Amino acid sequence: MLNKIQAITNEENQPSGCGPLLSSNSGIEVPLRRQVFEHVRAHGRATRTAITQALDISAGSVTTLTADLIAKGILREVDETAREMARGRPRIALEVVPEAAYLIGIKLSFNQHSAILSDFAGNVVATAVLQSNENRRSTAQMLSETEALINKVCANGEKTIDDIKAVGIGLPGIVNHSSGSITWSSLLKDRDQNLQAAFVEKFDMPLLLDNDTNMLTLAELWFGIGRDMTDFAVVTIEDGVGMGLVVNNQLYRGTHGMGLELGHTKVQLDGALCACGQRGCLEAYLADYALTREAATALDQDKADLKSSKELLDILFQQAKAGNSGAEAIFRRAGRFLSVGLSNVVQLFDPPLIILSGKRMQQNYMYADTVFAEMQKLTLSDNRDPCKIAVHAWDDLVWARGATVPVLSAITAAMIDGPEALDR
Ligand SMILES: [Zn+2]
Repeated sequence: MLNKIQAITNEENQPSGCGPLLSSNSGIEVPLRRQVFEHVRAHGRATRTAITQALDISAGSVTTLTADLIAKGILREVDETAREMARGRPRIALEVVPEAAYLIGIKLSFNQHSAILSDFAGNVVATAVLQSNENRRSTAQMLSETEALINKVCANGEKTIDDIKAVGIGLPGIVNHSSGSITWSSLLKDRDQNLQAAFVEKFDMPLLLDNDTNMLTLAELWFGIGRDMTDFAVVTIEDGVGMGLVVNNQLYRGTHGMGLELGHTKVQLDGALCACGQRGCLEAYLADYALTREAATALDQDKADLKSSKELLDILFQQAKAGNSGAEAIFRRAGRFLSVGLSNVVQLFDPPLIILSGKRMQQNYMYADTVFAEMQKLTLSDNRDPCKIAVHAWDDLVWARGATVPVLSAITAAMIDGPEALDR
């Protein structure tokens, strides 16, 4: 007890919560029991009085609903009296029971996979990274790499696979979230693979599958800059150019549930060849491969030869910073295309905020003020506030963290509304 009081008098140890901080005005009716739970999870800890005020419901309802959530083993009382002692009031708050469930979020990529083992309160219990030198893989090979990664993250978190309730995976490509099939992915040899069905058969565990940029967007909504926004867009530039859109606190997936392909919108008729096979896509001027393709023109041939694309990009970036005009021109041109892409996002969706998210944002050379000034110049924005741009330089693990979000949501629904919510 003493330990607990000492811990909770230290403000830094207060759980900060996860999930959207603002309620959706989408008109979708969320059951009250779930609203209570989500309020507590979003704030890390909340008293019954605070819940009563925030949800504008009666104290009696809050007592009944929290008693039910405590009985289900997903909320618990925590004594915060020590914090209020000066005012002489006992104070009991509620928090999510972190041990109620464990789950894993995974991001699969070309040469490095990453995983996060999360508890039910959204805390990171362990992480793991697995290097891979495979080119395009078969589905079976992908599953065995996934298995190695799951074993590694479980070992790092001192858990076994039996402790894990469900897994979320994000990967690049055309991924159908609801059917679990992958129409096309740069990681896979074959088209039209049902990774979800193959996973369930191998692991006997639910899998939630999505396009990796959708997962990254959910990471911003649950853990990042988007927590206190109901509407925003995320643009990411790495191996490809991706986009995610949140409307009314919900990820917008489009009719086919596949995600928004900003990278393959056309910016030049009959332009540069894109990885998708078409010409003139934004991605063909902006993605990692588009920059390294140009590298030979700016670097000595021996530097350009025999380097991995990542090494080449690093060298190109160093050279540009050191004043190599050829390298600089490559980034400057990419920056101009980024201005065009961002301006098109603003014209189409009018979001209050665009978050430029992902690891490439650490190379902030391209994201200089001139890029954003150019973007505003290309945008018709009379009589309205210009769209804000935030640059969020996360490390690679954020993608895996985003992949925990749909799993947390599905487990929550299963625990509150019944297990069929996880039957997929
Ligand atoms: Zn394309």
